[in-house]
Amino acid sequence: MAGICDSFQRGISYLRISVTDRCNLRCVYCMPPEGVPLVPHKEIMTFEEIMVVVKTACDLGINKVRITGGEPLVRLGVVDLVRMISAVEGIKDISMTTNGTLLAEQVKGLVDAGLHRINISLDTLKYDRFKQITRTGDLSDALKGIQAAMQAGLNPVKINMVPMQGFNDDEIIDFAMMTIEAGWHVRFIELMPMNRTAEFVPSGVLRKKIESLGPLEPFRGIAGNGAARYFRLPSAKGTLGFISPVSEPFCEECNRLRLSSTGLLLPCLFSSEGVDIKTPIRQGASTEDLKSLITAAISAKPKKHHLNSHDTADKNMSSIGG
Ligand code: SAM
Ligand code: SF4
Repeated sequence: MAGICDSFQRGISYLRISVTDRCNLRCVYCMPPEGVPLVPHKEIMTFEEIMVVVKTACDLGINKVRITGGEPLVRLGVVDLVRMISAVEGIKDISMTTNGTLLAEQVKGLVDAGLHRINISLDTLKYDRFKQITRTGDLSDALKGIQAAMQAGLNPVKINMVPMQGFNDDEIIDFAMMTIEAGWHVRFIELMPMNRTAEFVPSGVLRKKIESLGPLEPFRGIAGNGAARYFRLPSAKGTLGFISPVSEPFCEECNRLRLSSTGLLLPCLFSSEGVDIKTPIRQGASTEDLKSLITAAISAKPKKHHLNSHDTADKNMSSIGG
């Protein structure tokens, strides 16, 4: 199966699928307190339609899929979608990004269905602060989800933390310690300025702080998809990853295409426009026509993102997907 490249010779092998814009939490940097405006059910891609995109993209060389949201675990039947994707021969890796609060009860089904890896977002280890940041969540649910994922044998389980100045940046060392004490694989993601919730903390500043625990050795042995730079503290079983879209953009290595829950193929996380693939699928477009649409979206990938310019679109945040 030949791979596909964009206009800048980047191989595109990775499809991120947002299965819903909805979420059971309301993280301050991601969602307004009232949640996202409700999209009529008929606007959302069915699993069968998503599978048409997956199979067609796979024919073009996509071999990794990540399921995300909103919160993917609020979409009814998401386990069935994982099973359908894992039955596609060319898909070698299926992962999910979740807030983990609904994971404990679903993880066994997900693993049985073929999920390989999981990223769980967790911005604090403090109960009152978790409520403050997520507005509605309970830390014990997220911790149960993390534990259940580890017990279910998902490997690696990565913990995504978004440090924010004045909110949770006093917990960097606590998270780094979890790589030693609990074998967590922690990834720090720079806050992207979608709304002005807080200031981001540059990865360089985080690394300096963490080096008070010991030297950070570069580490290359962790499965993933390129955006993070990994390190390990002496004697730690777990690793520390840094995803730096603001201070050290990784656009040159970008290998991904996104599918929104309403059926738009988005060339970049920050694209304000996408290629509508849902309507042609519903109108019975041929596989060749759908391949052309996917190729067009890949060709529209910009050389780099425009994070600090005015075309940054809030509405695409639900497809970040960790
Ligand atoms: N609900 C799931 C979760 O929270 O993991 C999946 C969707 S969420 C949008 C995917 C990831 O994007 C999470 O790790 C979240 O922390 C991150 N994220 C959301 N808004 C962000 C922002 N403004 N800057 C950086 N990361 C952000
Ligand atoms: Fe929900 Fe994830 Fe956004 Fe938090 S970051 S509000 S959990 S979609």
